Amino acid sequence: MPLVKDFFIGISNNTFLNKLAKSIGPTLGANRVVAGNTMDQLIDTIQKLNDKGITVTVDKLGEFVENEGEAILAKHEILEVMYAINNHNVDAHMSVKLSQLGSEFDLELAYRNLREILLKANEFGNMHINIDTEKYDSLSDITQTVDRLKGEFKNVGTVIQAYLYKADDLVDKYPELRLRMVKGAYKEKEDIAYQTKEDIDRNYIHLIEKRLNNAEHVTSIATHDDKIINHVKQYVKDHNIERDQFEFQMLYGFRSELAEEIANEGYNFCVYVPYGDDWFSYFMRRLAERPQNLNLAFKEFVTPESLKKTGFVAGALVGFGVVAGLVTKFARK
Ligand SMILES: Cc1cc2nc3c(=O)[nH]c(=O)nc-3n(C[C@H](O)[C@H](O)[C@H](O)COP(=O)(O)OP(=O)(O)OC[C@H]3O[C@@H](n4cnc5c(N)ncnc54)[C@H](O)[C@@H]3O)c2cc1C
Repeated sequence: MPLVKDFFIGISNNTFLNKLAKSIGPTLGANRVVAGNTMDQLIDTIQKLNDKGITVTVDKLGEFVENEGEAILAKHEILEVMYAINNHNVDAHMSVKLSQLGSEFDLELAYRNLREILLKANEFGNMHINIDTEKYDSLSDITQTVDRLKGEFKNVGTVIQAYLYKADDLVDKYPELRLRMVKGAYKEKEDIAYQTKEDIDRNYIHLIEKRLNNAEHVTSIATHDDKIINHVKQYVKDHNIERDQFEFQMLYGFRSELAEEIANEGYNFCVYVPYGDDWFSYFMRRLAERPQNLNLAFKEFVTPESLKKTGFVAGALVGFGVVAGLVTKFARK
């Protein structure tokens, strides 16, 4: 369904809709996959997951940073979450985006912001800081920054997007880093990325196996795909790979029962918990991956109160949803 994917990825990058959505806070079903917009809500969510034996990586949402002031504010907000994690003694670390720290207009500023975050993380018991990967245009900024920081810090890691042809080289390049393995969430051209689910899944499995055999640090296998998860379970068993060498990860609010089941089987499990007002772009990417996630929005939308609360954005989004539904139907034919 490439049309549906293009559509949601397209609106995820719309600055106007992102700003508008920010002004009303997580809603339209996003509140089921975003852990609120107050620190109390976030800590409560982390505590509940920890109680189930699940660790957390927190994403303080925010991608559309346009000037130095906004990038510095984003850094302070990330530090604030780190202080709260430390003060409440919950089991969590951070996932950050370089773009949120200013890399789109000043890579040096983003590097300085990230270094400050890593210095504080060292004080907080070497809290892990993961640099999420974003669209392909930003990949060389991320690898350059990782290369500058990895000698100084042992608690920095990043993400491998299996749809990229380059992913193989990156897995070889960073055996000593904690790496998260994902399929890839953005829309990339065919000269740089695999396009079909079959090709992406095949490369994803190949990269996970290669990584598990060569890694000198933890590998996070981040997927909701039970076929891949079952494959990995069998692979580690057949190859005597210890459970402390890897963990499974899922996004907050998706396949929670399966997540708990896997944690109960004794595997390390980490949930990626987004938090804050900047929910729109994150949520649209989830719809791009799986248009069935629109169920979340429709469930939320049935009450007249929610329409009053969300006003224009809700109307616009449901309008988009209907169009997307029609496109999906059309694309299936
Ligand atoms: C923890 C985490 C961190 C991530 N970080 C990044 C990042 O830094 N950069 C990046 O580009 N991407 C990131 N992603 C997104 C990732 O790249 C994929 O876009 C996303 O995970 C969807 O792919 P999938 O592996 O879950 O499988 P998909 O190919 O989307 O789904 C495969 C199959 O799994 C099942 N399934 C999936 N979701 C559900 C569901 N909700 N309910 C029931 N069945 C379901 C279905 O059978 C489906 O056919 C991250 C994902 C996770 C989980």
